[in-house]
Amino acid sequence: MACQLEKIYGHQRILNKLISDADNDNISGAYLFVGPSKIGKFTVAKILAKQLQCEGKNCRACLQIRKNIHPDTLVIDDLYVQDQHEDLDRIASHTNLDQQYRVKKGIKTDSIGVDDVRQIIAVMSQKKLANYKIALINKVERLNNQATNALLKFVEELPEKTVVIMTTTDEERLLPTLVSRLKILRFHNLGEDEHRLALSEIFPDKAEEQIKQAIWLSQGRIGRSIDFLKSEQLFQKYVEQYRQIESLFEQSSLARRFDFIKDVVDDSGGVTRFLRIFTYFVRRLLQAKLAGDHDNIATNFSLSQLLNLARTTDTARMRIKGNAKEKLQLENLMLEF
Ligand SMILES: [Zn+2]
Repeated sequence: MACQLEKIYGHQRILNKLISDADNDNISGAYLFVGPSKIGKFTVAKILAKQLQCEGKNCRACLQIRKNIHPDTLVIDDLYVQDQHEDLDRIASHTNLDQQYRVKKGIKTDSIGVDDVRQIIAVMSQKKLANYKIALINKVERLNNQATNALLKFVEELPEKTVVIMTTTDEERLLPTLVSRLKILRFHNLGEDEHRLALSEIFPDKAEEQIKQAIWLSQGRIGRSIDFLKSEQLFQKYVEQYRQIESLFEQSSLARRFDFIKDVVDDSGGVTRFLRIFTYFVRRLLQAKLAGDHDNIATNFSLSQLLNLARTTDTARMRIKGNAKEKLQLENLMLEF
């Protein structure tokens, strides 16, 4: 067992299997961890990296991986994006692939391009000092086509003792040719009881009601509920926005809805947060409708109206990801209910 393992909640079966595969030298060259965001996929990837690189009790390798400075373990998470994400020190706490090539080129998108993959391959092809060369790539759905092809070539002919572990929330957005080369492991949300137990262990001082609310608003994603309980401010923002959305559904003029959208768009990170909560809100209405529960808002809509709203929300999200105007997309959404 590697030293310095992070505590992880859930995924025990996957983890046990990976650890035993690592110990028996039975590890695959390329993995894809699939599952919702914020449930621990990347944490499990790091644990596997430690398991493979560990040099024994209290070793330097595990410590270096924890600090993101292990020379033979590349971590690709946050990337430099000009005008949006330029704080190199902050990026370095998540990503240890040198970002200077992105700075020089003035890259303006967080997608993983062919230059990124070339850098990854260059580092992975250097002589290693540790047990393995490992690359951990978070949110691999960010790969563009050219980058996918470059990575595919590399994965098809992986050198000895080289492991690439990728995570994604959205397998559908990956090219099937790449996916077919990877060993896929599926991650699931924790059950509600397990989630509650974990949170009461991590936050023994939090009230039961607060824990319940965090689970509910995180939609079962433990990474998010932990963020909520760590930051009262973030938590309050979510709770408040949920109530605002609820009031938009209860009764509101179009002018009020548009004012609301203006505030969402003006707030940094506001659009992502809004879409997350709105999606959750619509899903909750759908569940109430399907279960025949008495819900004041759900009764005002037919099932097909709610399904339609869920689809429109998805479309808005996809278009915004594809760089459509946020304000226009969200205003359109406001016309749908
Ligand atoms: Zn170790």
